[in-house]
Amino acid sequence: MNLIILGPPGAGKGTQAVRLAEGLGIQHLSSGDMLRAERASGTPLGAKVAEYMDSGALVPDEIMIEAILNRLEGGGDTGVLLDGFPRTVAQAESLDEALGKAGRPVDGVLELKVPRGAIVQRITGRRVCPKCNSVYHMEFRRPRQEGVCDNDGEALIHRPDDTEEVIVSRLKNYEKQTTPLTEYYAGKGILHAVDGDGSVDEVCARLERVTRQLSGGR
Ligand SMILES: [Zn+2]
Repeated sequence: MNLIILGPPGAGKGTQAVRLAEGLGIQHLSSGDMLRAERASGTPLGAKVAEYMDSGALVPDEIMIEAILNRLEGGGDTGVLLDGFPRTVAQAESLDEALGKAGRPVDGVLELKVPRGAIVQRITGRRVCPKCNSVYHMEFRRPRQEGVCDNDGEALIHRPDDTEEVIVSRLKNYEKQTTPLTEYYAGKGILHAVDGDGSVDEVCARLERVTRQLSGGR
């Protein structure tokens, strides 16, 4: 089964993607991890990726797609969960063409939906330990002693980007960029909106319900 996961910043997409892929026994391909793996592989494609990454340029879509196809071939027939690609309709079209040719089309696109207010609450309440990078939350994951890391006693900090202003601006950018993409997949009848508001377990269970329906419908 080949899936794509979409979700706004702060929706816990990365965590869900890892769990979902594990549960389904498919490869989780986050675009960043995939490029780093390709680079480390020492292949000609990896050398090209390294050039773009080192010059700070965006890796072109065709290279990204080639890297995805390589992973598909390397991972047996189980499938992939793409996370972080595609981001634009043009990328989605190129991906569809390439996967179609490979006989492995996208089966479903999972879109995590979380109300803006809930994301703002999640992120503004976040506190991190500058020493061990542990993440706490003032409401949902309080340290044993207020303002202090459980592991090492370091004073917790509120990251400068964890403000409502920064988050709302990131969410607006995400919506602007993602709406055409979700419309594209909705038009193909493969978009599945999933309520992403709730605990990690609750959201994971909802995602698994959708993927069960997808695999049952084949
Ligand atoms: Zn710490």
